[in-house]
Amino acid sequence: MNAAPPPHGLCDACRHQRLVPNTRGSVFSLCERSREDPDFPRYPRLPVLRCPGFEPTEDRDAGKGD
Ligand code: SF4
Repeated sequence: MNAAPPPHGLCDACRHQRLVPNTRGSVFSLCERSREDPDFPRYPRLPVLRCPGFEPTEDRDAGKGD
């Protein structure tokens, strides 16, 4: 039985998230803001519920029309 992956919270909707799969089938949520700003951990503790660096992903809903 596969366990559901842990929710990443805000990061899942954030343009700074990069999902990094490992060889064991897990996927880690990496914060790319950590490259330039040490206030952001590379792998934030999940789920992230609040984050001053959150910026919504732009292309997730773009171009869908309605
Ligand atoms: S900036 Fe915040 S919300 Fe966005 S990926 Fe990093 S930790 Fe997650």
